[in-house]
Amino acid sequence: MDFLLQNTLSGLKEKVFPADGEALRFYCCGPTVYGPAHIGNFRTFTIQDLFRRTAEAVGIRTCHVRNLTDVDDKTIRESQKAGLSLKEFTDQWTRRFEADCKALNLLEPHHSPSAVLHIPQQIELIQRLVDKGLAYKGQDGSVYFRISAFPDYGKLSGLCREGLVCNADGRLHSEDEYGKEDYSDFALWKGWKEEDGPNRWESPWGPGRPGWHIECSAMSMHYLGESYDVHSGGVDLVFPHHENEIAQSEGATGKPFARHWFHPTHLRVEGQKMSKSLGNLYTLDDICAKGFSPEELRYVLISGHFRQPLNFTWDSLHAARSALQRLQKFRAKLCPNSSAVQDPVGESVPGFGIWEPVMESLADDLNAAQALGRLFTLLPQAESSLSADPAQRATLLEGFDRVMFAFGLKLDAPAVQEVSVEVPEEVRALAEERWQAKQSRDWAKADTLRGELASKGWIVKDAKDGYSLSHAAG
Ligand code: AMP
Ligand code: ZN
Repeated sequence: MDFLLQNTLSGLKEKVFPADGEALRFYCCGPTVYGPAHIGNFRTFTIQDLFRRTAEAVGIRTCHVRNLTDVDDKTIRESQKAGLSLKEFTDQWTRRFEADCKALNLLEPHHSPSAVLHIPQQIELIQRLVDKGLAYKGQDGSVYFRISAFPDYGKLSGLCREGLVCNADGRLHSEDEYGKEDYSDFALWKGWKEEDGPNRWESPWGPGRPGWHIECSAMSMHYLGESYDVHSGGVDLVFPHHENEIAQSEGATGKPFARHWFHPTHLRVEGQKMSKSLGNLYTLDDICAKGFSPEELRYVLISGHFRQPLNFTWDSLHAARSALQRLQKFRAKLCPNSSAVQDPVGESVPGFGIWEPVMESLADDLNAAQALGRLFTLLPQAESSLSADPAQRATLLEGFDRVMFAFGLKLDAPAVQEVSVEVPEEVRALAEERWQAKQSRDWAKADTLRGELASKGWIVKDAKDGYSLSHAAG
């Protein structure tokens, strides 16, 4: 089965494949480890995990790198506030991040490089740019990338140089960057300042520390080579971070950098942007403290198309709970002796049996909303075809588990009782399909399914991002 995905660089749906025929070389911009990651960050990391799992489920081996940003303005400033060394401080948040990833069933990357431990590679890359006239030392002791010397600048974001006034965060203009030739040039190396304290490294341009953008160029090329297959980060990273990564890398090597890019859109909470001041910046711990499980959160984070904004609500977690219970119940019927999904072993791909349409949706631009809709439509069909034949059950189970591996669902949580009316399977499947149709903004299909539910005597009520079912008479 081919795996197609829209490429931010070309705007086209393109095939995902390893250029070397061996393993798909895949880089994700990792967390800045200065506090707990929030559920928005985890939307991006979970979609990236869904991407990797889908590739592996259709038989593509991967080599996945996700860095740790453990040196930048935020980590330095916050470590000083906490009275800890940069290492002590970032180690503590790295451990927390790794524990959260594990709870959310994110596959561990093959490499998780720390930016601090790769400063020599970053200095070497900056030196190549200086040698080629693409970078220069400013009067303030910092080294800057000369955007005017890289004509391809803007090819990812579609922004031309003249349009580079300032992004929403004001990131182009930094008060402490007074040594630049041009306002749009960006820092590769930041000269040491007193407020940086002991956080300084020697370089050919004097003491200082690397800029954020160069970290990802240097680490990704170190582990994956100068040209590699796929690069991803949240949509806010398209500009300037990824644009700058392309300029630094292609400027230095003269070769294409990453071939295929994808960017999950941001998570919003109850219709609003997440922010500390609104008090809606939730962590995994906050979700668990309200009685929900990491798997329920994972389900919410993968449902919906990754290029559509996802609106997180508490109702959506309730809907996730009921969907997961339905899947758990199905699996228990199929295989009463094993309580958790078994990850596939070996690299052969025996196919997905009746679940093939589910995988086809995932492999078609990572359409998880449609894939979940198809999955719930197939459940009653699978149940009615269940026989006592152990071979038939084993095939059904193997395909089901492969699909669950792609979604990253283990279905091993102890059952939580929902206080709700007994809803027949067939009705639940229709309601779930309608919910997924809504997620993919297929309003016509959602309306048709609402009609079908009504014809069976059920009313579906939408409550923000969740739904409830009641008897038409009741
Ligand atoms: P950071 O730790 O801030 O460097 O971000 C880690 C990842 O989370 C990056 O890929 C960001 O683009 C992504 N991200 C940040 N905020 C959100 C959000 N609200 N929704 C989805 N992804 C986000
Ligand atoms: Zn990055």
